Amino acid sequence: MSFKKILIVEDEMRMRRLIGDYLKREGFIIYKSEDGKKALDIFNKENIDLLILDIMLPEYDGWTVCREIRKSSDVPIIMLTARSEESDELFGFELGADEYITKPFSPKILVARVKALLKRCNVIRKEKIKVKGIEIDDEAHRIFIDGKEVGLTPKEYDLLIYLIENKNKALTREQLLNSIWGYDYFGDLRTVDTHIKRLRIKLKDKSKFIDTVRGVGYRFEVKE
Ligand code: CA
Repeated sequence: MSFKKILIVEDEMRMRRLIGDYLKREGFIIYKSEDGKKALDIFNKENIDLLILDIMLPEYDGWTVCREIRKSSDVPIIMLTARSEESDELFGFELGADEYITKPFSPKILVARVKALLKRCNVIRKEKIKVKGIEIDDEAHRIFIDGKEVGLTPKEYDLLIYLIENKNKALTREQLLNSIWGYDYFGDLRTVDTHIKRLRIKLKDKSKFIDTVRGVGYRFEVKE
């Protein structure tokens, strides 16, 4: 499993939150922006795997954001709009949007489209993740600590990637359980603690980066 990062660009707060909640539940890592300018900033900083882009936005509109991104990236883009004119849709495709969803839509449909699009585009993490002497080669599914390979179970592996991808954020046990074991997993929150414990042992001195957040859960803490 590799965790996909989705950037939601939508100026309506309720809509932004709704889409974000649905996608988070599916284990995606969510970034949000309420305007086009901030969206480009986030896109340039983070390794975003897919964009959900509204058209009518403050600062830069969705068309501008799409055009800018397409200068350098093939990232999948789903455009949202309240307008349903066919000409807009065609315009969107010309600018390089992959999908076009007209409001109002069901969040479940959106989630399904996101998954299908990611599958179709088959985004593989080709870049290695490197942080504080921990190196993850996701293509080869191998982890090295200070150059030495460590054997992790699939869940420990997913857990470590998820913690690193969300570095410096406090993650609740529920969030970790939902993202790594799945929303339908019928398990105990202590499952998370058990895995963290084993992961810490395997990480040896790198375990210091996994902080326990009292009353919340865990955080991969690195100062940059
Ligand atoms: Ca809007």
